[in-house]
Amino acid sequence: MPRDYYEVLGVGRAAGDAELKRAYRQLAMQYHPDRNPGDKRAEERFKELSEAYAMLSDPDKRAHYDRFGTAPGGGGGFADAGFGTLFEDIFENFFTGGRGGRRARAQRGDDLQYELKVTLEEAADGLETKIQIPRLEACEPCHGTGAEAGSSPVTCDVCRGRGEIRMSQGFLTVARTCPRCQGAGEINKSPCPACRGEGRQRSERLLQIKIPAGIEDGMSLRLSGEGSAGGHGGPSGDLYVLVRIREHELFERRGADLLCDLPVGFAQLALGTELDVPALHGTARLKIPAGSQPHQIVKLRGKGMPRLRERGHGDACYRLILEVPAKLSARQREALESFEAASKGQQSGPLLASFVERMKKLLG
Ligand SMILES: [Zn+2]
Ligand SMILES: [Zn+2]
Repeated sequence: MPRDYYEVLGVGRAAGDAELKRAYRQLAMQYHPDRNPGDKRAEERFKELSEAYAMLSDPDKRAHYDRFGTAPGGGGGFADAGFGTLFEDIFENFFTGGRGGRRARAQRGDDLQYELKVTLEEAADGLETKIQIPRLEACEPCHGTGAEAGSSPVTCDVCRGRGEIRMSQGFLTVARTCPRCQGAGEINKSPCPACRGEGRQRSERLLQIKIPAGIEDGMSLRLSGEGSAGGHGGPSGDLYVLVRIREHELFERRGADLLCDLPVGFAQLALGTELDVPALHGTARLKIPAGSQPHQIVKLRGKGMPRLRERGHGDACYRLILEVPAKLSARQREALESFEAASKGQQSGPLLASFVERMKKLLG
């Protein structure tokens, strides 16, 4: 269960928008990861703060939370986007020229996607690597607050900190977002020069990531909170690392098994042999039993890919592809002719037996 959002921010249940924002800003600065490098608990606390603030600074979500004690479920549905919002949209657009003031407040940062190409060998072994992610980050000089160091925001003189203005039109009372402070309840008189009050800056971040052994092509890893920073104190989005596995020269992946087409000669199939075959790492010794048939699969147990969520490995599978020599030397021709002479009337095998059986049926 998540902690009580009011408790997280250290405010009472009646706290106004301005008080919420002040509490969040103060705590967020204290627990900001840039100020607490390597401190996991500070990072967790920072995420918790952002989540609590994102919830309580949204009037609809807060109302839901106050009533049910939980975050509103996904989907929203008609009740969330019902008459009130629609009505507000119309008047907000009418008064503020369509800038949608309320929406300019705490917004969650964008989710980002990064495509990482790996080799089959890397997918088999797992991989730790660094990736460079261009993203919006909380502005360092102002720690994402958007206010110049040493300055603090002042209460909005138009709405007196309420963030909204009530207007009476006949029997209707309409509340709309304050156009001066965009609903924040306070005004930033000295915006941070580095980010012009936005609280975010374009930046590139080097991230260490770990790809688990056995990952499959097209799988995504979610790095919570590693997307772009939120706007106006909102929480960060997530980063999705999409893993693509490059095609391998010799192996085709089938789940945890690997399949390789192995060209072999007739005599090798008939007599049986041992061959050095490619494996995922180097080579391996493969025993082909005498009397093997074309397209038969010979396996090296446990030499395939690791299983992602279980123990053990799949198999390396070698499909025996018969290759008939296109040219014969005099000695080879002689040897084959004497083999053919020795085989007269003795050719046998399940394929021939079945063929002869069916031919008999056909001819009656
Ligand atoms: Zn700044
Ligand atoms: Zn205002």
